[in-house]
Amino acid sequence: MKFPAIMALRFYNTLSQRVEEFQPSSGNTVRLYTCGPTVYSFAHIGNFRTFTFVDILRRWLRASGYRLDHVMNITDVDDKIIRNAAAQKKSLSEYTAEYTQAFLDDCATLRLEVAEHLVKATDHIGDMARAIARLTEGRHTYSSDGSIYFRIATFPGYGKLSHNDFSGNLAGARVDVDEYEKADARDFAQWKAPKDGETSWVTEIGAGRPGWHIECSVMAIKYLGETLDIHAGGVDLIFPHHENEIAQSESLTGKPFSRFWLHAEFLMVEGQKMAKSLGNYFTLRDLTARGYNPEAIRYLLASVPYRKSLNFTFDGLQAAQMAIERLRRFKLRLDTDKFPEGANDRAAARTEAARQAFVASLDDDLNTAESLAAVFEYARDANSAMDAGQFGAENRAAALRLFAQFDAVFDVLRPSSSAGAVSDSDIEALIAEREAARKARQFARADQIRDQLLAQGIILEDTKSGVRSKRK
Ligand code: AMP
Ligand code: ZN
Repeated sequence: MKFPAIMALRFYNTLSQRVEEFQPSSGNTVRLYTCGPTVYSFAHIGNFRTFTFVDILRRWLRASGYRLDHVMNITDVDDKIIRNAAAQKKSLSEYTAEYTQAFLDDCATLRLEVAEHLVKATDHIGDMARAIARLTEGRHTYSSDGSIYFRIATFPGYGKLSHNDFSGNLAGARVDVDEYEKADARDFAQWKAPKDGETSWVTEIGAGRPGWHIECSVMAIKYLGETLDIHAGGVDLIFPHHENEIAQSESLTGKPFSRFWLHAEFLMVEGQKMAKSLGNYFTLRDLTARGYNPEAIRYLLASVPYRKSLNFTFDGLQAAQMAIERLRRFKLRLDTDKFPEGANDRAAARTEAARQAFVASLDDDLNTAESLAAVFEYARDANSAMDAGQFGAENRAAALRLFAQFDAVFDVLRPSSSAGAVSDSDIEALIAEREAARKARQFARADQIRDQLLAQGIILEDTKSGVRSKRK
């Protein structure tokens, strides 16, 4: 008999355009860098699709036995921030502190783990100035009107991540240079000259403020060393942001900047990328204010594999909520039902097959859709086995382990505690109302009440002796 090959953890690497087996370069620790938010307003759920992917990545790396050393930056200086802070007559730090906290609160609501190092651009201005000075010594930069630009022509590998061919582009590029101070259209500002009334810093390379790309290069190398194991972000960052990060970092160190590059596809709305500029966005707060629970949002964002774009709809969100409830009901049965003594061999084999399918799907470039399918199919089969008395008391522990393994990654089984927790008398009243609705055959309303209670951590179970409720 042939055993199925044990497949190792694999990721699609944007750099090689291939699925590659992943291991950290040395030891057991994965050095991971992910681009964080620009804190000029609330993040939208498109942004959170990428951050949820990063969370699933973190959790699966850990479940695979690795330790994490993860850096995420907070971009707390850029044009929009400066403009908005000035409009509100606030200092830069006062303005960004508010939205940094909002971002962290949203991450907590969505159960996104915080990186080991959460680092702010404005805390690293000196490091950035030093890096630019070194690049200048290596003749990778030029100055123009007090700003400093990176000269792309000095980095032959430019384009290797985005697989753009820039050869022959250099002379031609001059034609469409619209920012006259640049020598080549692709050159980018590493340091921006101070402008009247704008925040700036006085450093060894003069006064001014850093560009966006240098921030990530400098903070990644400072905390994680010259070659990262994984660098990740949304697909919109491949070009030019990550391409520019590579040009700067590799010009500084002479070493590959990151071994793996992982990019999440967009959250879309009616065929378009969800984006602030298009006005087609929802923040997390918009959705929770409409009564959607954070677990459903988390589930929806995680349920489509990260390399596929995901279309946001309220029906999809509703379906996510129902899917979680199905799993919670199954888990409650697993926790509380009485099963016949002993173990049923077929049930044991079924549980083990589900566990293997779950692991194999996530090992396969984080195929979350397949891993969820493995768990749902298992719940359906195990429910039938339970109904038929073919699930033994000794099958319970392995099934619970599978669900623990599932929830260590997806983290949706525990209901969020809401601020206004429901009292026992509220629950009794809602149960009575649900019963009345069912008698009147208003099943949609009855389900709505059940879902509303579930969202507040109250599970209803219909038993022969009536409805029983349980707090999670
Ligand atoms: P920003 O705060 O604009 O720098 O974006 C933070 C992160 O959100 C980046 O990794 C972007 O690639 C990502 N992002 C922005 N819009 C979307 C979207 N519609 N879907 C998925 N990720 C996005
Ligand atoms: Zn970045």
